[in-house]
Amino acid sequence: MTAYRGTVLHFSGDPAEEEGNVHLVEDGALLVDPAGHVEGVAPWAALTAEQRAGAVQDFRDDLIVPGFVDAHAHSGQIDAIASPGGDLMAWLTKSVYPAEMRFQDPGYARRASGAFLDTMLAAGTTTACVHTTTSKEATGAFFAEAHARNMRVVAGKVLMDDGGGAAPAGYLDASVGQAEDDCRELIERWHGRGRVLYAVTPRFGPTSTEGLLRMAGRLYQEHPGLWMQSHLAETRDEVDQVLDRFADLKPRSYLDVYDRCGMVGPRSVWAHCVWPDHVYRGTGGGHDWDVLRDKGAGVAFCPTSNLFLGSGLFPFARTRRAGVRVGLGTDIGAGTSYSLLATAAEAYKVAALQGEPFDALRGLYLATRGGAEALSLQDRIGGFHPGAEADFAVLDFAATPVLKRRTEAAADLRERLFALMVLGDERAVRAVFVNGRRSTPGASGRPDPR
Ligand SMILES: [Zn+2]
Repeated sequence: MTAYRGTVLHFSGDPAEEEGNVHLVEDGALLVDPAGHVEGVAPWAALTAEQRAGAVQDFRDDLIVPGFVDAHAHSGQIDAIASPGGDLMAWLTKSVYPAEMRFQDPGYARRASGAFLDTMLAAGTTTACVHTTTSKEATGAFFAEAHARNMRVVAGKVLMDDGGGAAPAGYLDASVGQAEDDCRELIERWHGRGRVLYAVTPRFGPTSTEGLLRMAGRLYQEHPGLWMQSHLAETRDEVDQVLDRFADLKPRSYLDVYDRCGMVGPRSVWAHCVWPDHVYRGTGGGHDWDVLRDKGAGVAFCPTSNLFLGSGLFPFARTRRAGVRVGLGTDIGAGTSYSLLATAAEAYKVAALQGEPFDALRGLYLATRGGAEALSLQDRIGGFHPGAEADFAVLDFAATPVLKRRTEAAADLRERLFALMVLGDERAVRAVFVNGRRSTPGASGRPDPR
C-alpha cells in the first residue's frame, strides 16, 4: 500500500444538493493498494506508525482530487483548436473536416492521438469521452494509444453518412452497412480491453440519415455494455435543421429523433443540450429533461465551446434541478482549453450570466464525480470510495505567481479552492496518477509525439 499525503477532496454526489456529499480531509492521506485501487482516505494523524513508515508520497501542501473526467472531446480536432470560423456549421466545414481528414494518414493518426492523450493527462484528465474521426484505422490507433497509457477512456469512430454538401464525400461513411461493419470490428477488438470502452458515435443529426441513426441505436441496444454518444441541441440552427430533416418522423423534439432510433438510455452521453425542447420553444415544462433523467442519460456541459462558437448559455442549474446527470466537457477543438479547471471557471461565468450560483465545490464535483455520473462510470472512477480505480491528480495552490498570491491571501480553504478553479489550469497539475501509477508525458515509451 502507498499513502499519498495531502489535502484530499472528493465527492459522493452533487454538493449543492447535499452537504454530506463533500468528503474533505485536510492533512489526510489517500491509500492505494498495489493493484491500483483505492483502499480509503484517512486523516494523516490516524495512520498507524507502520503505515507512516511505509511507502509515502508527500504532497502535504497540495490538493489531491480524483482524476478529471472530460465528458466530451474530439481527438480528431487536436489541430483545429483555436481556428476562427463563425458558427457551428461554418466552423465544421472550414476547420473541422479538413483537420479530421488528416487522420487518414496512419502515422499522423498515431502521433496525434498520443499527443491528444498526453495533453489530457498533463491537464489532470484521466478519463475522457471521445469522438475520434470517421476512420476505422485512426480509431484503432486512438484506442492503442489510450491502452498503452492504461487510461479509462470511452470513445468511438465517428459515424456520418450525409454531409449535407458541407463534408467532403471522401470523409463520409461509404454506406450504413460498411459503417456497421467498421463498428463491429472495433467493438470486437477494443471494447473492454484493458480500460478501454466503446461508444457508438454518430456525429449528430445534420450529418446522419435515418438509416444510420437506426443502425447506431440497434448496435447500442444489441450490446448491453456499450456506450452511446453524440451532440444534442448545441445551436438553434442545428435544432431547426434536425426538425426539418427528420420531419417524416414527426418528432416532438431533436432528442425525440434520437430516442425513436433507440439511441437514448443508460451510458448515453449527449454533448451540449443548450437548447432542449422547451428552451428552444420558449415554453414551460421540459420533456427532454424528463426523458434524459428517466433513461439515466448524461449531458456534457461544454462552456468554453459554447462561448467560442456563440452557441448559447447552457441552462446548468435548471438541468440539474430537473435531475439530469451533468458532467463537464472541454469539447476540444471547439473548446479552448484542455483543463477542466479552466472549463469549470467558464462554467461559473455561464452560470453567472444566468444569475445562478456556482461555487468551487460544485465546479470540482462536475470535473470529477459529476463527469463519472454523466458517463455512468461512478462505481469505478471519479471518487475515492474503497475499490475505486486510483486515478487522481495532485494540484498545486501556488502553481503561478497570481495563484500563489491569491491563495495565500485567502481566509479559508473554500476561498483557496475557488481561486484554484478560477485561476488554475494545466500549470496547477503537479502530478497525475493513472490506476495508481504516476504518469509522465510520453511514459508509454513512444517517441515525442511531435
Ligand atoms: Zn463536440
